Amino acid sequence: MKIFAPKYYTDFSCIAGACRHSCCIGWEIDIDAETAEKYRGMTGDYAKAVRESIEPGDPPHFRLGAEKRCPHLDETGLCRIILACGEDNLCEICREHPRFYHDTCRGREVGLGMACEEACRRILSSDGYAEFVPVGEGADAELPEFDAVALRTELFRLLSDRDISYADCRKKIAERWRVSPSDLSDEAARELLSELEYLDPARRVRFLAYSSSCPDPEDSAQLRRALAYFLFRHCSPAQSEAEFRAGVGFALFCERLLASIAGEGDIAECARMISEELEYSEENTEAIKFEFVF
Ligand code: SF4
Repeated sequence: MKIFAPKYYTDFSCIAGACRHSCCIGWEIDIDAETAEKYRGMTGDYAKAVRESIEPGDPPHFRLGAEKRCPHLDETGLCRIILACGEDNLCEICREHPRFYHDTCRGREVGLGMACEEACRRILSSDGYAEFVPVGEGADAELPEFDAVALRTELFRLLSDRDISYADCRKKIAERWRVSPSDLSDEAARELLSELEYLDPARRVRFLAYSSSCPDPEDSAQLRRALAYFLFRHCSPAQSEAEFRAGVGFALFCERLLASIAGEGDIAECARMISEELEYSEENTEAIKFEFVF
């Protein structure tokens, strides 16, 4: 089956050594079964170093070094496995990051996760969020019947309508999906944020600046694109109206959090942080979506 992606996807490539927040630092890197088998039989100068870096387990993973660095990340920010053995020898998670996939009734889609700083830069600088292009072929699978794409298109049409202000656009989306302050008051939102798990505890304090009524910056283009990203990622896989609404609630919540903490600061870095803390923790994502379930 064909795989589709938002237009900005095709411009993405990892910036490797130039990345300030490498995904090869701070995360446990699991090795999928197929790659683990490949590593067992691998030959060549670097094969022994790869095998010796693996911590057995279910799944096995690379033993992280100082400052939680992947043992194969060199001083210049490049991957020694790629340099010595070629990209084909990366495990699935390293090959795919920051991509995510979901199936819709119209086919499979792939996106870029905003926790990656280069993906974030692309997402926040492109208005191509509503335009989907074919980017490859994937294995056939049974597709869901629920048409989340039609509902998403309706939201993207609203988001792209420059005849209404961004604030009105958000209001219309919230009204359409009956997401109201009574679902999650600001006080309850801050309480929820304080109870979540964090990679960096300092962000717990930062996120407590959440206010659903914080003013939009003069130029709201990046907030609009961030909202489009959250809607794409969290509404598209919905298989029912209830799941779609939870995705809308989550997207609006993350967008308001972004507006609350960005201020005059670096909006891209704030968006990346929110993605890393809220989207890349299944528990955190579920806890927030739960507030918007019918
Ligand atoms: S976070 Fe993104 S840009 Fe940085 S190393 Fe990982 S994939 Fe590359």
